[in-house]
Amino acid sequence: MPIDATQAYDDDNIFARILRGEIPSRKVYEDEHALAFHDINPQAPVHILVIPKGRYVSWDDFSAHAPVEEIAGFVRAVGHVAREQGLVAPGYRLLANAGSDSGQEVPHLHVHIFGGRGLGPMLV
Ligand code: 5GP
Repeated sequence: MPIDATQAYDDDNIFARILRGEIPSRKVYEDEHALAFHDINPQAPVHILVIPKGRYVSWDDFSAHAPVEEIAGFVRAVGHVAREQGLVAPGYRLLANAGSDSGQEVPHLHVHIFGGRGLGPMLV
């Protein structure tokens, strides 16, 4: 069910539990600011989620409240994963859902990285 983007951060959300190691994930990258792992229900040959380690519900929460070094670290991590996955030359797409109109389901900020095939025109 899509989330209410104005809600307070829920420490029991599924990505918080992945960060704490309570739920397994297929990790592809980790540093002090970010964790990246394969989506459990991939929509493309490459479908990776990159999440900040801090407690942020959505992009606007993150951009308003995270320290600059955390924002920089997270943005760098997304680019690093795209490069590491060999996606730069063929290309890739980034997506961050925010709030109920977008269909965001997990209330911890995440950027989807899609790649590995022609992704077609962006639908919205
Ligand atoms: P949203 O719709 O919130 O932008 O995307 C949430 C994403 O998280 C979905 O693509 C969904 O497949 C993925 N997801 C949900 N639960 C899990 C999980 O337990 N493990 C992993 N790896 N991905 C998950």
